[in-house]
Amino acid sequence: MNREVIQEIKDRLDVISIVERYVPLQRVGSRFRGPCPFHQETKPSFYVDPNLGLYHCFGCNASGDIIDFYCKINGLEFYDGLVELAKEAGISLDLKKSKSFVPSKRKVLYEINSVCLDFFRKSLKKSPNAIAYLKQRNISQDLIDEFKIGYAPDLWECLKNYLIKKGYPLSSCVEAGVVVKNEKNRIYDRFRGRIIFPILDISGRCIGFGGRIIGDGEPKYLNTSENEVFKKGENLYGLYQARREISLKKSVILTEGYIDVIRLHQHGYKNSCGVLGTALTNSHVKRLSRLCPKVILIFDGDEAGQKAAFKSAQLFLAHGIKVEVVELPEDEDVDTYLQKYGNKGLDKLLERANEGLAFCAKMIKLINSPREVIDWCREFINSLEDPALKGFYLPTLSREFGISEVELTRSTKKGDLKQGILPQDKILSIGDREVLRFAICFPEYLEELRALDAGDYLKSNFSKSLWEKLNNYSPEEILYNLDDKERSFYIESLFLKQRKDDFEKFWSDLKGFLKKRQKEKKLSELRTELMRAQMEHNNEKINYYLSQINEVLKYKDNG
Ligand SMILES: [Zn+2]
Repeated sequence: MNREVIQEIKDRLDVISIVERYVPLQRVGSRFRGPCPFHQETKPSFYVDPNLGLYHCFGCNASGDIIDFYCKINGLEFYDGLVELAKEAGISLDLKKSKSFVPSKRKVLYEINSVCLDFFRKSLKKSPNAIAYLKQRNISQDLIDEFKIGYAPDLWECLKNYLIKKGYPLSSCVEAGVVVKNEKNRIYDRFRGRIIFPILDISGRCIGFGGRIIGDGEPKYLNTSENEVFKKGENLYGLYQARREISLKKSVILTEGYIDVIRLHQHGYKNSCGVLGTALTNSHVKRLSRLCPKVILIFDGDEAGQKAAFKSAQLFLAHGIKVEVVELPEDEDVDTYLQKYGNKGLDKLLERANEGLAFCAKMIKLINSPREVIDWCREFINSLEDPALKGFYLPTLSREFGISEVELTRSTKKGDLKQGILPQDKILSIGDREVLRFAICFPEYLEELRALDAGDYLKSNFSKSLWEKLNNYSPEEILYNLDDKERSFYIESLFLKQRKDDFEKFWSDLKGFLKKRQKEKKLSELRTELMRAQMEHNNEKINYYLSQINEVLKYKDNG
């Protein structure tokens, strides 16, 4: 896919009318403002600039161009969003040419998964046993179709032979995790005698499978083994089917099992998805937080389920996402509960859901000693991604545990805050920030900035890397070469761009600042040389460096 095509698509689209489908916008000068769709807020801090073709939220730092916006709000990968927008722009993308977009190894894995999906679906139609099982679990044909449920025959080499016949090398099939190679180099089907739940990525491509055994046997559930396209810690079951509803409802119901997700969808809770038999990860949290600001956890009613809910709630809270926890009776999961009590029953539980932090507090009080309670509070506060969240949670913690806010803050050491997880621009030194902002807003001054050695004085790695890119890419290219944090900072800078009358002062202040640093650097170099000369008792050199230092100092005094 070349840049020109992307640019052409962007040029043809009306940014404001697209954003307005999702966000009510109000004109403010040359820009538009509205409530941010990517985080919860009362005061609108989401801005769109139709001339720049960019959006930025000063609340949560979400930012990008219209393609980013479209993908994010619809939960689409870049390429899929682009295809849809190209259609709107009336540009036909040459799909054959763009195949190079997917690296070839991944492409083979996607293909194998897609072939397996067909195989499992066909096998289901041929197995009265499996059909009877699904019927007994109350899974209708509609649901089977919607979730593309299939069946793996109880044979050792059925799928393997099918894949060979289709021409796939066995090594790729092993890599795709659908056949297994044992120590004796025997290769056989991974899934045997199991109901198959295909796992789709957010663009609807099949990336792996979950298999449930029919009847008794161990393990009850089995997944595709991890590979380049299938990562349990990054993907969620049912997210593809749920993504639009999640954006629309601005909330997601998160549960544990395949059938739980399917049952929720059957009953109209179409914003539901599930973790894939693994603990919730930061990637999961980030993925969901991009789609909506609120998560409702419905985990099994037993102790294991409640513990998982506790840990998950904590993780969401630490990222500043609103959480509610539904408590099911001890021997129920959401599948059995919905079948017994229907929507009415679950709606009641949803109404009575615990606020996330209150739920955590309740769990902690149940099982822990006062000492452990305080430790937990401390750990929780230190785990917060944005330190500003502290002020938000402290009153609740204080109320729940009867510990004063002062006491809670006293027991949390500032030094414990993990630097690495703070948004970079918040820890940029003022000098770094000013230099970068200026270079971003006025790229025509980059040469002068370089002459003033601006890059040499940047402190953080973030600044250095961004500076490098600013110098290597044209303003037209650069957005595609920045990572998320860099892009957010870049776009924010454009939105903060000074008006013309401020410019003179900004530039002269910055120049003064850089010249001062340049002189300081020169002085420190000269002083080092002077010390060396003094150690060598080299009078000629001593005099030379002294006079040089005086020169620089004199120059500094003159301004
Ligand atoms: Zn926002």
